[in-house]
This record gives sequence, structure tokens and C-alpha cells, in this order.
Amino acid sequence: MNDERAQAFLPYGRQNIDESDIEAVIAALKGPRITQGPLVDEFEEGLCKYLGAKHATVVCNGTAALHLAYAALDIGPGDEVITTPLTFAATANAARYLGAEVRFADCDPDSGNILPSSVASLIGPKTKAIVAVHLGGLPCDMQELRNIADKHKLWLIEDAAHALGATYRGQRIGSGLSDIATFSFHPVKHLTTGEGGAVLTNNSMIKERLDTLRQHGVERRPEKFANKSPGRWYYEVQELGYNYRLTDIQCALGLSQLEKQPASVKRRREIAERYRARISAGLGRCVSAQRSYDDRQSAYHLFPVLIDFDALGISRDAVMESLERQGIGTQVHYIPVSWQPYYQERYGQPQAQSGVHRYYQRTLSLPMFPCLSDEEVDHVVDSLARALGQQLPAKVAS
Ligand SMILES: *Cc1c(COP(=O)(O)O)cnc(C)c1O
Repeated sequence: MNDERAQAFLPYGRQNIDESDIEAVIAALKGPRITQGPLVDEFEEGLCKYLGAKHATVVCNGTAALHLAYAALDIGPGDEVITTPLTFAATANAARYLGAEVRFADCDPDSGNILPSSVASLIGPKTKAIVAVHLGGLPCDMQELRNIADKHKLWLIEDAAHALGATYRGQRIGSGLSDIATFSFHPVKHLTTGEGGAVLTNNSMIKERLDTLRQHGVERRPEKFANKSPGRWYYEVQELGYNYRLTDIQCALGLSQLEKQPASVKRRREIAERYRARISAGLGRCVSAQRSYDDRQSAYHLFPVLIDFDALGISRDAVMESLERQGIGTQVHYIPVSWQPYYQERYGQPQAQSGVHRYYQRTLSLPMFPCLSDEEVDHVVDSLARALGQQLPAKVAS
């Protein structure tokens, strides 16, 4: 691949780092504390303010965020969590770290989000939590999930790795639609700290557990000590915790990125509108965008389209290859986690789930990141039309 092509290549997602981000990181490196310093609190406060939540605990990645969320709710051996198979493996893996079992629910075939009715059918005496994943940034049916969780006295958790900036009935994802919401700051996500994550909650007891577990289970407050303190150097390890800290260097980057987050989500929505307009102008018969709802606004971490490859008589692999040759990266989100060998070995062949199957068979994520230009969006749609052997769709006004 020559340099020009390499430069023009559009991946399905990528970070957006500018000079102000770089300056913020340099300033942090020159500061007195590069970890466990003041920027950690500042970044946590910034996230709370943006999301409208009471408490945030930032951690070293989104998987650690899930692990701490589950651990803070005492999910462990003998417990079951119900989640979607249409997610990144971390959602399920983090429950397995704690010895809990995972039950996979069916999904809506056109949104890819977990189906509340399927969740309800899987609840049993061992069920402890429901974990919703807002696929691509599109909020799940939170009201219905809340009703089910309340009825059965279960924890409701959101893996909101895709949904920073999304809203459900006017309320931000992460503001308290569930007991705990987790985010990831990996470079493909909305906001990056290189690697990073956060756990949001409005429950001060959960927040305390999260902070303790983030740091080896260490307790430093004298009034909480189990034994008598011999002096000021004293602290206690009261339970088994981890080192899941995020550095001040990373928090500096996070704070700088957070300033641009509202504009980034706005641009993602504009890009999505353009994709939708151009797809319905010309590819509407064989391609549809992920389902949308009047009461939810996606944060568009991804822009998944659903293509009936079988009806078109063309394989997804061939379409991906053609797009790649035209300089466009695409990805499939996700191979159902329940189909992965590790989970098949543990739980056997997954039961037939028509919604999961139908979504997985058709989905393809097109490039989606804020610095994508209108011309690049048009280029992606035209290239997709060519890859599918269709006529180029009509232009739409910018
Ligand atoms: C990215 C992601 C994670 C994990 O985040 P990391 O920061 O990569 O550990 C978890 N769940 C979902 C749905 C994700 O997309």
C-alpha cells in the first residue's frame, strides 16, 4: 500500500487527538504527580458533570470497569448474570473472572439490543444481575429492563462502552438509568485516554466499594479499621482488591477530550443522518441502518448497517474485501459471544436465538468517527453500492 492510500484509508473508527490534547498530556507530565494525583478527581468530576451522575470511579480500562462493577455488587460463584451475546467478550468475561455464570438472552433483529422478554424468560433463583449493552451507542429499552429488574430484585448494570453521550427519554446514559454504568476510553470509543474506563453510579455505598477495590482493598480511614491503629503509617487491606488505577497523564488526556465530547457526538449524529439519507436514496432495498427509536438518541460509536447478503447472493466477506480495496475498513460487531469456543465449551451449543442470528448475519459497521467529512461519507456509500453491484445512490445536499 503506498503512502497516499494508507493516508486515505478510512478505518471503521479511530481516535481524534489534537494539539490541545497533546499540550494537556505534556503539562501533566511536568506536574508533581503523574499518578494518584489531582487530575484523577478532576476527570471523575468532569464525567459526573457531563453525564449527570453523582459518582465516577475511573479505572485502567473498560474491562476493569466491568470487573469492578460486578465485584462491587458481590457477584460471584453461584450467581448468574443475564446479558446479550451481541457484545464484546469483556461483558461476559468479567463475570467469569468472579466465578459467576453467564446466561445469554436473545436480541432484537433490527437493533441488536437485548430483548426484555428474553431476559425475563431466563430469570431463575440464581440470577443476580441484568447487564444491558447499548449496541453501537443505541440505548436499550431501559424502562422495560428496570421494571423486570425491580420485579425480581435484580441489579441492573449498563455496559455503556458505546454510549457516551446517548440519551434515553431525554436522560443521559450513565446518569442513573441503572445501578451502575461502565464506560471504556479505548481509542476506538468516543473519548480516549489510550486505555481507560469509568464506573458511574448514584449510590454512595457502591462508590466506596469501587474505590476500595480499585486500590488493593486498602482502607485508610481510621474509623473503618478492624484493628487498633498503631500510628499514622497504618492502613488495612480489608478485602482482595486490584490495581486498576488510571494515571494522571491519562486523566489529563481524558479531561481535554471531554471538552470536545459534545461537539464530537453532534458530528457523529450528522454523519449518521447523511448515511441514512444516502442509503435510503439508493440502497434502501437491500441495506438498512440500525433501527432507530423516537425516544432514544444514539451516540453512534458505530454505524452498523444491515445487509441481506443471502438475498443479494453475495458474501459478507466479498463485500468487506471490495470495500477494503476501495480504501474502506469495516468490521462485524459482534460474533455472538455465546458462539465463542470458550463459552460453547462451558455452556454447550447456544440455543437457537432468531434475533441474534438474524442481526449477526446481516450486520456490517461502516466508518464512523467525528473527523469523517461529508465527501468521505459519500465515498463510503458509493463504494458500498459498487461492492453490492448496485447503482450509485443519488447525492444529497450537505
Ligand atoms: C470496548 C468495550 C469493552 C471493553 O473495554 P476495554 O477498554 O477495551 O477493556 C467492553 N464492552 C464493550 C461493549 C466494548 O465495546
